[in-house]
Amino acid sequence: MTVAGDEGRVHIVGAGLAGLSAAVRLAAQGRAVTLYEAAAQAGGRCRSFHDARLDCLIDNGNHLMMTANTAVLDYLDLLQAGDALTGPAQAAFPFLDLESGQRWTLKPSAGRIPWWIFRSRQRVPGTHLASYLKGLRLAFAGADARIGDCLDTHDPLWRPFWEPLIVAVLNTPAEEGSARLLWQMLLLTFARGEAACRPLVARDGLGPALVDPALAFLADRGAEIRFNQRLRRIDFNDERAARLDFAGQAIALGSADQVILALPPQAAEGLLPGLDAPRESHAIVNAHIRLPQAPDWPFEAHQAEGGREVPFMGLLGGTADWLFLRGSVVSLTVSAATALAQRPNDEIAAALWSDTARALNLDPALNPPIRVINEKRATFAQTPAALRRRPPPRSAWRNLFLAGDWTATGLPATIESAVRSGDAAAKALTLP
Ligand SMILES: Cc1cc2nc3c(=O)[nH]c(=O)nc-3n(C[C@H](O)[C@H](O)[C@H](O)COP(=O)(O)OP(=O)(O)OC[C@H]3O[C@@H](n4cnc5c(N)ncnc54)[C@H](O)[C@@H]3O)c2cc1C
Repeated sequence: MTVAGDEGRVHIVGAGLAGLSAAVRLAAQGRAVTLYEAAAQAGGRCRSFHDARLDCLIDNGNHLMMTANTAVLDYLDLLQAGDALTGPAQAAFPFLDLESGQRWTLKPSAGRIPWWIFRSRQRVPGTHLASYLKGLRLAFAGADARIGDCLDTHDPLWRPFWEPLIVAVLNTPAEEGSARLLWQMLLLTFARGEAACRPLVARDGLGPALVDPALAFLADRGAEIRFNQRLRRIDFNDERAARLDFAGQAIALGSADQVILALPPQAAEGLLPGLDAPRESHAIVNAHIRLPQAPDWPFEAHQAEGGREVPFMGLLGGTADWLFLRGSVVSLTVSAATALAQRPNDEIAAALWSDTARALNLDPALNPPIRVINEKRATFAQTPAALRRRPPPRSAWRNLFLAGDWTATGLPATIESAVRSGDAAAKALTLP
């Protein structure tokens, strides 16, 4: 039984980035907070763990952020952990085509006008200005338009530019993704110029960067954090959530208590009668490979702001979409990987090792230890139909609010969306 203070306690269920950001905002305002998490650790789909096979800390998957992700940067500022992310001082996206061996680096221009698309040496090799200008069709896309309705999938720009960009941002087969959501993302990043497009990655891993500082902040402010607590059922009474039923423990809510459900869409839908959440999801597959020593990096090394860099490159013509390097650990990502995720791990490992050996010019017979991580429900499928099912933070129950990357943030399902959703839920519950 909780004891309600004047403002009551806020019970936040789910300690992914959405739940953590809500908890941090509310604890900073002096609210009494309890955070419940089904797993034994926080972070949800954005977590680190020690891998025995590689004998190092690894992330469940490479996570790329951008300087346009202002909610993430504000969250880290509040936690005084702003230096936990690293990236190049200038936006640059190197690509390698494993089929042709061709390399190029996309460098967005400073300011709002994308001058780079007017200069043939800065464009993707073999592409023409007219192809880029056709991207403006996205600006006129209706709510029901798929990307395949707006962009020509046979255009020379599709394979080396649109497809990798869309799959990375929407984790959805590129033709099926929402054209409007893609345009929204372009407005927030490329349309703001180079300074908004600088890539950011967690310098020492997702846990140390985004999760551990939040748990320390919450502990300092007296928040309760309870792991291994799976919410099984919510009882409602008089338009309010009245009781939270965790396996083995029931929490009766005081009259001023409030609840934020910061769960994945499937879990939220199972607990809230009448909630219509996005249902279909897509996998992301990652592999981490520990090499005997740090390999040479085949692109110009950039100077990371604040020290140690984590170089990365986009890959075409193989299985992986992106390759990141942290010292001697190579990490590869395949998004919209629902078909690949059905294959046995040793097949996935062999395909991703072959990409690595080709990209970094390594002996294919090396046989290094590889860890494959298959996140079958990495994000919801960001199609026009699914976007209509994103709910606002306020629910049908007066003291119950929703957060999660899948709620109506107007952004692709990313860390930025998760953090914004937590902030929005924290704000909504303080309003009358
Ligand atoms: C492999 C991978 C790569 C990604 N790459 C990127 C990227 O490059 N850039 C980017 O910005 N984003 C990326 N994302 C997306 C990003 O990780 C998510 O958008 C974000 O982490 C979602 O946070 P969340 O808090 O909304 O949800 P979650 O992280 O899913 O948090 C929900 C929490 O609720 C808990 N839970 C579930 N059911 C219950 C229950 N009944 N009771 C109590 N707790 C429960 C879960 O254990 C979980 O901890 C990636 C995701 C994956 C999986």
